[in-house]
Amino acid sequence: MTTADTTTDTTGDRPADPGTELHLQLAETATARNYHPLPVVLTSGRGAWVTDVGGRRYLDCLAGYSALNFGHGHPQLLAAAREQLERLTLTSRAFHNDRLGPFCRDLAELAGMDLVLPMNTGAEAVETVLKVARKWGYEVKGVPADRATVIVADGNFHGRTTTIVSFSSDPVAREGFGPFTPGFRTVPYGDAAALADAIDEHTVAVLLEPIQGEAGVVIPPPGYLAAVRALCSREDVLFVADEIQSGLGRTGTTFACDAEGVTPDLYVLGKALGGGIVPLSAVVGRREILEVIRPGNHGSTFGGNPLAAAVGHTVVELLRTGAYQERAARLGERLGKRLEALMGHGVLAVRSRGLWSGIDIDPELMSGREACERLLARGILAKDTHGSTIRLAPPLVIEADELDWMTEQLAEVLTVPRA
Ligand SMILES: *Cc1c(COP(=O)(O)O)cnc(C)c1O
Repeated sequence: MTTADTTTDTTGDRPADPGTELHLQLAETATARNYHPLPVVLTSGRGAWVTDVGGRRYLDCLAGYSALNFGHGHPQLLAAAREQLERLTLTSRAFHNDRLGPFCRDLAELAGMDLVLPMNTGAEAVETVLKVARKWGYEVKGVPADRATVIVADGNFHGRTTTIVSFSSDPVAREGFGPFTPGFRTVPYGDAAALADAIDEHTVAVLLEPIQGEAGVVIPPPGYLAAVRALCSREDVLFVADEIQSGLGRTGTTFACDAEGVTPDLYVLGKALGGGIVPLSAVVGRREILEVIRPGNHGSTFGGNPLAAAVGHTVVELLRTGAYQERAARLGERLGKRLEALMGHGVLAVRSRGLWSGIDIDPELMSGREACERLLARGILAKDTHGSTIRLAPPLVIEADELDWMTEQLAEVLTVPRA
C-alpha cells in the first residue's frame, strides 16, 4: 500500500474548517519544521479529552508523551499552579524560595533517595546526570582526567542536545550535527553479557531507559535490570535510570525499575513531573553521589523555580497515595489483553506495561502515520514511531470504557478498508 497520497487528505471523511486551515497554514509559513504534527489544531482539554478549533473532541492517547499522566487540567495541579502564580513565580537560585525545599524532600522520599537536583527539561536533566557521573568518576572512583566513559544502549532516546545526540543511534536525530561529544560506548539493549564486556576501568556510568519509549515501548527481557544493577555494583559503576517517560506511574508502579525491585543510583525524571503545566525535570539520587556537584559547578536560571516546585510537589502528593499507579496497573492489564486480541488482525507485535503500549502494525497494511491519521478521523490522538509502530500512552485518568472504545476504533482502523 502506498502512503504517498496521505499528505493532504489526512483526516479521511472529516470536513476541513477555516479555523483549522488558518493554523495549518501558519505552521507552514511561520513555524520551523522540526515536527510533522497530525493535522489537528487543539484549543482546550480536560482529563483525557481535548477539543480542536472546530469543536471536535478527541481522546488523547499520547498525553504529551507522558507529560500529562494526570490528564489535562487536573484540579489539584491547577489549584497549586494558580495559587503559586499569584504569590511568587521566579527567584533564581541566588536566593532560597519556600517551595523548593519541601518539593525536594518529598520527591527524594518518594524515590527512596536523599537529594534532588532540579532542572527544567528532560534533556537538561540528562546533561546534568552526565556531568554528575563524570565528576563522580574523577573524584570518587579515581578515573584519570578526561578518560571517563558512559555506556548507553542501542535504540536509546535521551533528548536532543548536541551531547545527547552524540550517542543516539537514530541517524535522523544525529546526522548533520557533529562534531560529537566523545566518551560514550553503545551496547545492545537488553543484553547483560554485552554490557559486562563493555565495562572497563574508565566506565563511570550505565545510562538506560528501563523501558525504551521512543524506540517503541521496548521492554527488556526479565532479569535484565536486576543484572545491570548487580554488574554496576560489582564494577563500581553508576546505574542511571532515565525514567523521564517510563516513571511517575505510567507503567503501574512509581518507577519502571520497581517492576524488578531494582533501585538505580540515580533517577532522571521529567515530563509528568511538571504535571503537564510547566517544564520540570530532576536528577534524584544518593547524597554521596550528588554531593560531587558544588556551588558554581552547575545550574539553571529557571531550575527549581517556585511555580514549578509547587506543581511538582503536588505531583508527588498525587503519587504518594499509590492510586494512580494502581489504576495504571489495573487498566493496563485490560489494555494489554485487548491489544493482544488484535494480533494477527493487522498487528504483528504488542508490547505493553501499564498504560503504555507499542503496537507494531503490518507495514503491508498501512504505515503507522496512516493508522494515526485514521484514528484521528475517529476522534483518537495517537502517535506513530519508527515507521510502523503506534505508541499509546493515555492519561492515567482515562476510564475503562474509554480504553475499550479506543481499542475498538483501532481494530476497525486496521480491518475496515478505507472509504
Ligand atoms: C522525552 C525524553 C527525554 C527528553 O526530555 P525533553 O523534556 O524533551 O528534553 C529524555 N529521555 C527520555 C526517556 C524521554 O522520553
